[in-house]
Parts: sequence; C-alpha cells; structure tokens
Amino acid sequence: IDDRDGWIWFDGEFVPWREARVHVLTHALHYASSVFEGERMYNGQIFKLTEHTNRLFRSAEVLDFQIPFTVAQINDACKETCARNGLTDAYVRPIAFRGSEQVSVSAQQTRTRVAIAVWDWPSYFDPETKAKGIRLCWAPYKRPSPETAPTEAKAAGLYMIGTINRHHAEARGYADAMLLDWRGFVAEATGANVFFVRDGRLITPPADGAILNGITRQTVLEMLAARGLEVEVRHIRPEELAGFSECFLCGTAAEITPVSEIGDDRFTPGEISLSLMDEYSRLVRGQI
Ligand code: PMP
Repeated sequence: IDDRDGWIWFDGEFVPWREARVHVLTHALHYASSVFEGERMYNGQIFKLTEHTNRLFRSAEVLDFQIPFTVAQINDACKETCARNGLTDAYVRPIAFRGSEQVSVSAQQTRTRVAIAVWDWPSYFDPETKAKGIRLCWAPYKRPSPETAPTEAKAAGLYMIGTINRHHAEARGYADAMLLDWRGFVAEATGANVFFVRDGRLITPPADGAILNGITRQTVLEMLAARGLEVEVRHIRPEELAGFSECFLCGTAAEITPVSEIGDDRFTPGEISLSLMDEYSRLVRGQI
C-alpha cells in the first residue's frame, strides 16, 4: 500500500504517496499513541464528515494529546485530499499520532503529527457475500472495560485486540469475529457495530463504554426512529441469539452487512436488514 502514485496530506502539506514516511523511533509505533478515523466519500461528499473529525479530536483528547489544527482545517484537508487524488468515491483515513522526539512512556516532548490518506475501497465485503450474509465466529479476546482501556476513543492500541480476533476468524474460514464485552454481553465485531431482529423489533447493545459508539450505528438508530420502528437498546446475552431471526453489522467501511451466522446461531437476511441496507446506500449518496 505504500508504493503507489497519489498524494497524502501530512502535517498541512501534500506529499507524494511514497514519501509520506515516519522514523522507526516514532512514539506511536512503540506505545500506540495514535488515533484515527475511517470515513467514506460518496458522490463527492464525505458522509458525516464533521462527526468523524469531532471524534478524531475527542479520541486524541482521551489519549492526552492535542491536534495542532482546527476541526474546520481537518474537514477541508479531508475534502482536498480526495480532490487532489481525483476521487469522488473513496475511503478516507485521517490519523493523528505522537512523533519521534522521545522514546519513553512519558511523551511530553513529542510533536503531534497528522496525516490523511484516501483510496478507492468500493466495499468491505463483496456484494454477493453481503446479500447472503457473512459468517462470524466468537472472538477469543473480549472488549475491555472502560476502566481498563480508553474504549470510547478510536485508538490504534485497541485494534491490537481486533487484529488478533480477526486473524482467529480468518484462520477458521470466517469473515469476522463477534466480541463479547468484559461482562460477557454481546459487544461488536472487529470494526463494526451489531443489530439483531426479533419479532420485527430491533435490538442493539447500548453505548455504555463496551463498544465504539459508531457513527453508522447512530445513523441506523435515526433511520429506525424515522420509520417508527421500535428499538431495544440493551445488554444482550449470547444465549439470546438463538431466538433472533436477523442480524447485521454496521460501520463506515462495512456499511450495512447482513450476517448469516455467529458461532452455532443462524440468521436469514430478511426484509428489515435488506431494506435498511438499501436505504443506507441511498442516504449516504444524498438520495434521501
Ligand atoms: N466498532 C469498531 C471497533 C470500529 O472500528 C468501527 C469502525 N470505526 C465501528 C464500530 C463502527 O464505527 P463507525 O460507524 O463510526 O464507522
């Protein structure tokens, strides 16, 4: 991914893609002092751009570093990076991290660096797999308590757990893994939130520190409210999954992706999942 043409916005300037480098003593590399975002541009518009930029700033604050730009500057930089790369449909990856001025747990001397890369990424899962529903297994590692890790931040360090869980799933032929939280309640997948359907009602875990409160999750809740559909935002025990008929994941990259199985439980992508998938794809393209 580092050897290609294109432009990356780096600390306020555009640099050629291949030259957007950091030193091996970068603090973020040693101590995970890094926060990032994942956004999508559709038809020239980044969906919920300010919400994403606000979360980037909030994540940095949680990790105790300041981003040396304003929200408006980062918003503009995201849009300009798409334009500079000639993209109107793209995945947008802003990242803010501590630099290489100091290698120690204390990082008071480091400078915060910010980069934005964008690339073409049509779908997380291919459309055919998506319509049938993807297969998930249970993850070996749980989502930590908010008293143990800064779980409200989209912090790189938390994705160590995600990568181990995702590899566990892929090694067994699954697309992704479903995590429980530290209490044993159903939490989320490695990069997406989860919803279930039972008797026409939607059920999703609460944003009480166990999950990343996804911007897509919040969008789905708004879509459901607009439809007048009832939603139970509550803790879900894994044994309850046997009584649920539909399941889908939602996230910026995953969009809305139906799930056909989690461990021993089976689901059939139905009217609710498929119509939400369709509505979401029109909403993000400004067609609603
Ligand atoms: N949970 C995790 C762990 C994620 O990485 C993501 C993707 N950012 C999500 C949920 C979904 O968040 P969003 O809808 O804001 O992309």
